[in-house]
Amino acid sequence: MNPKPFGPIPPEFRDLEALPWRDEPTPAYVYDFPVIAARIARLRAVLPSQVAVHYAIKANPLPALLKAVAPLVDGLDVASAGEMDKALDVMTAGAISFAGPGKRDAEIELAIRAGVTLNIESESEGQRALAIGEMLGMRPRLAVRVNPDFELRGSGMKMGGRASPFGVEAKHVAGLVKRLIIGGAEWRGLHIFAGSQSLDTQAVIETQAATVLLAARIAEEARRAPPLVNLGGGFGIPYFPGDVALDIEAIGAALAGELDKLDTQYAIELGRWLVGEAGVYLARIVDRKVSQGETFLILDGGLNHHLAATGNFGTVVRRNYPVAVAHRMQDPPEEIVTIVGPLCTPLDRLADRVSLPKAEVGDVIAIFASGAYGASASPSAFLGHPPARELLVGADHA
Ligand SMILES: *Cc1c(COP(=O)(O)O)cnc(C)c1O
Repeated sequence: MNPKPFGPIPPEFRDLEALPWRDEPTPAYVYDFPVIAARIARLRAVLPSQVAVHYAIKANPLPALLKAVAPLVDGLDVASAGEMDKALDVMTAGAISFAGPGKRDAEIELAIRAGVTLNIESESEGQRALAIGEMLGMRPRLAVRVNPDFELRGSGMKMGGRASPFGVEAKHVAGLVKRLIIGGAEWRGLHIFAGSQSLDTQAVIETQAATVLLAARIAEEARRAPPLVNLGGGFGIPYFPGDVALDIEAIGAALAGELDKLDTQYAIELGRWLVGEAGVYLARIVDRKVSQGETFLILDGGLNHHLAATGNFGTVVRRNYPVAVAHRMQDPPEEIVTIVGPLCTPLDRLADRVSLPKAEVGDVIAIFASGAYGASASPSAFLGHPPARELLVGADHA
């Protein structure tokens, strides 16, 4: 039986000393704040100064993490009233924007009252926001989300270039902007998000260039410069064998050459790239068994905590996340094992036939690249096991 490969362990965690918290009670997610802070610093160093950095909090909305990250970024992007509440605890309303289809009237009202920018996803949502603003006697802050007429190539989740619940068709945006302004809104600008999880540096560069051009075209049609153009994000991280990190230095340099096409403030909004590689999921081996020659390690958590690592969250083909025996990072591989969670479903498979040092009951398995779309994007109530703890480490020295 041949082993199957697994994804690259992020460089920060490759040596044993890098996991000082590996003895934490399991199951748990650990988020290493210094890794996040270093990411943000690296990004800022390569981005042109007119480009603000926003954190899309749906990637990881843990309140302690938001509190630590907020001072390092220029804005927070939220996708529900629940997320908006968390964002308002750590950031001024003027630096928060709220995107997402199907905003309820109550959510729109809360955003207008707080002074949060609503990214308008349709003509009718724009009209509702104006009506609610009028009812409140308040001027709503509105940006328009554009459904771009192109998509981010090589992106795991395509969000443009097609029929979509997100945003307003590019050709209708200028008209809507005019109607919103006439209707009494404070126009905050444009939001253009063309896709997510791309590891194709050239595709990101081309998409950003096309996004600036599209914003400039809309500004001309609307005869107004947008106060802010949110260029989206879509920066992917390596999860699987063969994945190579984006060249953000090249992306920053290319973007610097595009920005003069429109005189405005820019932002990019990132979730996964800022926090994904800083997170590690830890679960303990409860049982070891051999079935028909295949060795299974059965953990105290699985799909209920980490749906994405089982291949059931936005991936077409199941592949192995980076994985290790937490106390044996430096040991050579000795056996081929399949690592599963405790749920009564064959979907609960965290690693398929990976080659690892020998691990016994009581040992801890670490799954890397788990800081984004982990705990909050998993069905934690499914089968009634306890939730994973979530721990932010290293923020006290920040
Ligand atoms: C989800 C989302 C993001 C963040 O995507 P990542 O892949 O985590 O960077 C940014 N903007 C919008 C509009 C989103 O919906």
